[in-house]
Amino acid sequence: MSKIISVCIPKGGVGKTTIAVNLAASLAVAERKTLLIDADPFGASAIALGFTQNKIKAGISDIFNLSKSIQFTIHNTELKYLHFIPANINSIRLDEKFSKSTNDRSVLKKSLKSIRNQYDYIIIDCPPILTGITTNALNSSNSILIPIRSGHLSLEAVDKLIQFVNWIKDTTNPVLEIEGIVFNMYEKYSKVTEISEKELKLKYKNYILNTVIPVSNLLNEATFYGKPLCLYRINSVGAIAFLDLAYEIICKNENIL
Ligand code: ATP
Ligand code: MG
Repeated sequence: MSKIISVCIPKGGVGKTTIAVNLAASLAVAERKTLLIDADPFGASAIALGFTQNKIKAGISDIFNLSKSIQFTIHNTELKYLHFIPANINSIRLDEKFSKSTNDRSVLKKSLKSIRNQYDYIIIDCPPILTGITTNALNSSNSILIPIRSGHLSLEAVDKLIQFVNWIKDTTNPVLEIEGIVFNMYEKYSKVTEISEKELKLKYKNYILNTVIPVSNLLNEATFYGKPLCLYRINSVGAIAFLDLAYEIICKNENIL
Protein backbone atom coordinates (compact mmCIF):
# COMPACT_ATOMS: atom_id res chain seq x y z
CA MET A 1 0.00 0.00 0.00
CA SER A 2 1.45 3.37 -0.94
CA LYS A 3 1.90 6.42 1.22
CA ILE A 4 0.09 9.47 -0.15
CA ILE A 5 1.66 12.81 0.80
CA SER A 6 0.18 16.20 -0.15
CA VAL A 7 2.58 19.12 -0.34
CA CYS A 8 0.39 21.91 0.95
CA ILE A 9 0.21 25.34 2.59
CA PRO A 10 -2.19 28.22 1.83
CA LYS A 11 0.63 30.55 0.82
CA GLY A 12 1.93 31.20 -2.70
CA GLY A 13 5.50 30.97 -3.91
CA VAL A 14 7.00 29.16 -0.91
CA GLY A 15 8.22 26.16 -2.89
CA LYS A 16 5.35 23.64 -2.89
CA THR A 17 5.86 22.71 -6.53
CA THR A 18 9.66 22.73 -6.28
CA ILE A 19 9.52 20.41 -3.28
CA ALA A 20 6.83 18.12 -4.71
CA VAL A 21 8.71 17.67 -8.02
CA ASN A 22 12.19 17.26 -6.55
CA LEU A 23 11.08 15.08 -3.64
CA ALA A 24 9.16 12.81 -6.04
CA ALA A 25 12.19 12.61 -8.37
CA SER A 26 14.54 11.87 -5.45
CA LEU A 27 12.27 9.10 -4.16
CA ALA A 28 12.35 7.66 -7.69
CA VAL A 29 16.16 7.86 -7.73
CA ALA A 30 16.03 5.80 -4.53
CA GLU A 31 14.04 3.26 -6.58
CA ARG A 32 10.76 3.88 -4.79
CA LYS A 33 7.88 3.61 -7.26
CA THR A 34 6.53 7.16 -7.15
CA LEU A 35 3.59 8.97 -8.70
CA LEU A 36 3.56 12.77 -8.78
CA ILE A 37 0.13 14.37 -9.16
CA ASP A 38 -0.15 18.00 -10.20
CA ALA A 39 -3.29 19.20 -8.40
CA ASP A 40 -2.61 22.86 -9.14
CA PRO A 41 -4.54 24.06 -12.22
CA PHE A 42 -1.60 26.35 -12.97
CA GLY A 43 0.33 23.24 -14.08
CA ALA A 44 3.79 24.22 -12.84
CA SER A 45 4.85 20.63 -12.10
CA ALA A 46 4.45 19.74 -15.77
CA ILE A 47 6.76 22.61 -16.76
CA ALA A 48 9.33 21.49 -14.16
CA LEU A 49 9.29 17.99 -15.65
CA GLY A 50 9.48 19.17 -19.26
CA PHE A 51 5.91 18.30 -20.23
CA THR A 52 4.78 20.64 -22.98
CA GLN A 53 1.08 20.67 -23.99
CA ASN A 54 1.66 18.30 -26.91
CA LYS A 55 3.10 15.67 -24.57
CA ILE A 56 0.05 15.69 -22.28
CA LYS A 57 -2.56 13.12 -23.36
CA ALA A 58 -4.87 13.43 -20.33
CA GLY A 59 -4.75 14.59 -16.75
CA ILE A 60 -6.43 15.67 -13.58
CA SER A 61 -9.40 17.35 -15.31
CA ASP A 62 -10.32 14.02 -16.93
CA ILE A 63 -10.31 12.40 -13.50
CA PHE A 64 -12.69 15.03 -12.11
CA ASN A 65 -14.93 15.02 -15.21
CA LEU A 66 -15.00 11.23 -14.97
CA SER A 67 -14.21 11.19 -18.70
CA LYS A 68 -11.16 8.91 -18.52
CA SER A 69 -9.93 6.30 -16.10
CA ILE A 70 -7.05 7.43 -13.88
CA GLN A 71 -4.78 4.77 -15.41
CA PHE A 72 -5.06 6.59 -18.74
CA THR A 73 -3.88 9.88 -17.22
CA ILE A 74 -0.55 8.46 -16.01
CA HIS A 75 2.54 9.56 -17.96
CA ASN A 76 6.02 8.07 -17.91
CA THR A 77 8.93 10.42 -17.16
CA GLU A 78 12.67 10.40 -17.75
CA LEU A 79 13.03 8.50 -14.47
CA LYS A 80 12.03 4.84 -14.60
CA TYR A 81 10.46 4.91 -11.13
CA LEU A 82 8.61 8.22 -11.54
CA HIS A 83 5.16 8.52 -13.09
CA PHE A 84 3.21 11.75 -13.49
CA ILE A 85 -0.40 12.92 -13.70
CA PRO A 86 -0.48 16.50 -15.11
CA ALA A 87 -3.06 19.21 -14.43
CA ASN A 88 -4.57 19.68 -17.88
CA ILE A 89 -6.89 22.60 -17.24
CA ASN A 90 -6.51 24.88 -20.20
CA SER A 91 -9.32 27.36 -20.61
CA ILE A 92 -11.38 29.51 -18.27
CA ARG A 93 -14.54 27.63 -19.28
CA LEU A 94 -12.91 24.30 -18.46
CA ASP A 95 -11.60 25.83 -15.26
CA GLU A 96 -15.15 26.72 -14.14
CA LYS A 97 -16.40 23.24 -14.94
CA PHE A 98 -13.38 21.81 -13.15
CA SER A 99 -14.03 23.90 -10.02
CA LYS A 100 -17.61 22.60 -9.86
CA SER A 101 -16.49 19.00 -10.23
CA THR A 102 -14.09 19.35 -7.28
CA ASN A 103 -17.01 20.12 -4.94
CA ASP A 104 -17.36 16.39 -4.42
CA ARG A 105 -14.54 15.82 -1.91
CA SER A 106 -14.14 12.11 -2.66
CA VAL A 107 -13.49 12.04 -6.44
CA LEU A 108 -9.69 11.83 -6.23
CA LYS A 109 -9.75 9.36 -3.35
CA LYS A 110 -12.07 7.01 -5.24
CA SER A 111 -9.92 7.20 -8.40
CA LEU A 112 -6.66 6.61 -6.53
CA LYS A 113 -8.06 3.42 -5.00
CA SER A 114 -7.57 1.52 -8.26
CA ILE A 115 -3.90 2.47 -8.72
CA ARG A 116 -2.41 3.19 -5.31
CA ASN A 117 -1.08 -0.35 -4.92
CA GLN A 118 1.20 0.22 -7.92
CA TYR A 119 3.24 2.82 -5.98
CA ASP A 120 5.36 3.19 -2.86
CA TYR A 121 4.74 6.96 -2.69
CA ILE A 122 2.20 9.29 -4.24
CA ILE A 123 3.10 12.99 -3.95
CA ILE A 124 0.43 15.63 -4.63
CA ASP A 125 1.38 19.22 -5.48
CA CYS A 126 -1.46 21.42 -4.13
CA PRO A 127 -2.43 24.97 -5.11
CA PRO A 128 -2.09 27.75 -2.46
CA ILE A 129 -5.77 27.54 -1.48
CA LEU A 130 -7.76 25.38 0.92
CA THR A 131 -10.84 24.61 -1.18
CA GLY A 132 -12.01 22.25 -3.93
CA ILE A 133 -9.07 20.34 -5.26
CA THR A 134 -6.98 20.79 -2.09
CA THR A 135 -9.83 19.31 -0.04
CA ASN A 136 -9.83 16.39 -2.49
CA ALA A 137 -6.05 15.99 -2.12
CA LEU A 138 -6.10 16.06 1.68
CA ASN A 139 -9.07 13.75 1.76
CA SER A 140 -7.03 11.22 -0.26
CA SER A 141 -3.78 11.60 1.67
CA ASN A 142 -2.09 9.87 4.59
CA SER A 143 -0.11 12.96 5.44
CA ILE A 144 0.83 16.50 4.48
CA LEU A 145 4.27 17.98 3.98
CA ILE A 146 4.35 21.70 4.76
CA PRO A 147 6.99 23.86 3.05
CA ILE A 148 7.96 27.05 4.79
CA ARG A 149 9.93 29.72 3.02
CA SER A 150 12.76 30.45 5.36
CA GLY A 151 12.86 34.06 6.55
CA HIS A 152 9.18 34.67 5.82
CA LEU A 153 6.84 34.57 8.76
CA SER A 154 4.39 31.88 7.78
CA LEU A 155 2.95 31.10 11.21
CA GLU A 156 -0.50 32.33 10.25
CA ALA A 157 -0.58 30.09 7.17
CA VAL A 158 0.60 27.08 9.20
CA ASP A 159 -2.04 27.76 11.91
CA LYS A 160 -4.72 28.00 9.22
CA LEU A 161 -3.52 24.78 7.61
CA ILE A 162 -3.42 22.83 10.90
CA GLN A 163 -7.00 23.97 11.61
CA PHE A 164 -8.00 22.78 8.15
CA VAL A 165 -6.24 19.43 8.67
CA ASN A 166 -8.14 18.97 11.95
CA TRP A 167 -11.40 19.70 10.15
CA ILE A 168 -10.60 17.12 7.44
CA LYS A 169 -9.66 14.62 10.17
CA ASP A 170 -12.93 15.21 12.01
CA THR A 171 -15.12 15.02 8.92
CA THR A 172 -13.80 12.76 6.16
CA ASN A 173 -10.24 11.50 6.65
CA PRO A 174 -9.35 10.53 10.24
CA VAL A 175 -5.95 9.05 9.24
CA LEU A 176 -4.50 12.34 7.94
CA GLU A 177 -1.23 13.20 9.70
CA ILE A 178 1.45 15.88 9.49
CA GLU A 179 4.46 14.39 7.69
CA GLY A 180 6.53 17.40 8.67
CA ILE A 181 7.46 21.01 8.10
CA VAL A 182 10.39 21.58 5.76
CA PHE A 183 12.31 24.85 5.53
CA ASN A 184 12.88 25.93 1.94
CA MET A 185 15.29 28.57 0.59
CA TYR A 186 17.14 28.18 3.85
CA GLU A 187 19.88 30.72 4.54
CA LYS A 188 21.80 29.49 7.55
CA TYR A 189 23.37 32.62 8.92
CA SER A 190 20.58 35.07 8.20
CA LYS A 191 19.00 36.89 11.15
CA VAL A 192 15.54 36.73 9.61
CA THR A 193 15.86 32.94 9.19
CA GLU A 194 16.81 32.68 12.85
CA ILE A 195 13.77 34.69 13.96
CA SER A 196 11.25 32.85 11.78
CA GLU A 197 12.70 29.49 12.81
CA LYS A 198 12.46 30.40 16.49
CA GLU A 199 8.81 31.46 16.13
CA LEU A 200 7.88 28.26 14.38
CA LYS A 201 9.79 26.03 16.80
CA LEU A 202 7.94 27.52 19.76
CA LYS A 203 4.68 26.15 18.41
CA TYR A 204 5.49 23.31 16.02
CA LYS A 205 8.89 21.95 17.10
CA ASN A 206 7.84 18.31 16.80
CA TYR A 207 6.83 18.69 13.19
CA ILE A 208 10.03 20.29 11.88
CA LEU A 209 12.10 17.95 9.70
CA ASN A 210 15.90 17.74 10.00
CA THR A 211 16.49 18.37 6.30
CA VAL A 212 16.48 21.96 5.05
CA ILE A 213 16.48 22.96 1.38
CA PRO A 214 18.99 25.74 0.66
CA VAL A 215 18.61 28.53 -1.87
CA SER A 216 19.70 27.09 -5.18
CA ASN A 217 19.65 29.11 -8.37
CA LEU A 218 20.21 25.89 -10.27
CA LEU A 219 16.56 25.02 -9.54
CA ASN A 220 15.35 27.72 -11.93
CA GLU A 221 17.89 26.60 -14.51
CA ALA A 222 16.77 22.97 -14.15
CA THR A 223 13.12 24.02 -14.58
CA PHE A 224 14.10 25.92 -17.73
CA TYR A 225 15.39 22.62 -19.14
CA GLY A 226 12.35 20.72 -17.80
CA LYS A 227 14.32 18.56 -15.42
CA PRO A 228 14.29 17.86 -11.69
CA LEU A 229 17.56 18.94 -10.09
CA CYS A 230 18.81 15.37 -9.67
CA LEU A 231 18.79 14.95 -13.48
CA TYR A 232 20.34 18.36 -14.08
CA ARG A 233 23.14 18.62 -11.49
CA ILE A 234 23.13 15.57 -9.20
CA ASN A 235 26.21 16.73 -7.27
CA SER A 236 24.83 20.19 -6.41
CA VAL A 237 24.06 21.14 -2.81
CA GLY A 238 20.37 21.53 -3.73
CA ALA A 239 20.08 18.09 -5.38
CA ILE A 240 21.78 16.50 -2.37
CA ALA A 241 19.36 18.29 -0.01
CA PHE A 242 16.39 16.82 -1.90
CA LEU A 243 17.97 13.35 -1.77
CA ASP A 244 18.39 13.90 2.00
CA LEU A 245 14.72 14.88 2.26
CA ALA A 246 13.70 11.71 0.38
CA TYR A 247 15.94 9.68 2.69
CA GLU A 248 14.41 11.29 5.80
CA ILE A 249 10.91 10.49 4.55
CA ILE A 250 11.89 6.93 3.59
CA CYS A 251 13.42 6.39 7.07
CA LYS A 252 10.29 7.76 8.75
CA ASN A 253 7.92 5.61 6.75
CA GLU A 254 9.83 2.39 6.21
CA ASN A 255 11.24 1.86 9.70
CA ILE A 256 14.83 2.10 8.50
CA LEU A 257 17.39 2.86 11.28
P1 ATP B 1 2.47 28.58 -6.01
O1 ATP B 1 1.76 28.80 -4.72
O2 ATP B 1 2.36 29.75 -6.94
O3 ATP B 1 2.10 27.27 -6.65
P2 ATP B 1 4.83 27.33 -4.96
O4 ATP B 1 4.62 27.37 -3.49
O5 ATP B 1 4.52 26.06 -5.67
O6 ATP B 1 4.04 28.53 -5.66
P3 ATP B 1 7.34 27.29 -6.36
O7 ATP B 1 6.69 27.52 -7.68
O8 ATP B 1 7.84 25.94 -6.09
O9 ATP B 1 6.34 27.76 -5.21
O10 ATP B 1 8.53 28.31 -6.12
C1 ATP B 1 8.38 29.70 -6.33
C2 ATP B 1 9.66 30.23 -7.00
O11 ATP B 1 10.74 30.07 -6.10
C3 ATP B 1 10.04 29.47 -8.27
O12 ATP B 1 10.59 30.39 -9.19
C4 ATP B 1 11.11 28.50 -7.81
O13 ATP B 1 12.03 28.17 -8.83
C5 ATP B 1 11.79 29.30 -6.69
N1 ATP B 1 12.36 28.42 -5.65
C6 ATP B 1 11.70 27.50 -4.92
N2 ATP B 1 12.53 26.90 -4.06
C7 ATP B 1 13.76 27.45 -4.26
C8 ATP B 1 15.05 27.24 -3.68
N3 ATP B 1 15.27 26.34 -2.74
N4 ATP B 1 16.09 28.01 -4.16
C9 ATP B 1 15.89 28.93 -5.12
N5 ATP B 1 14.71 29.16 -5.71
C10 ATP B 1 13.64 28.43 -5.30
MG1 MG C 1 3.05 25.59 -7.10
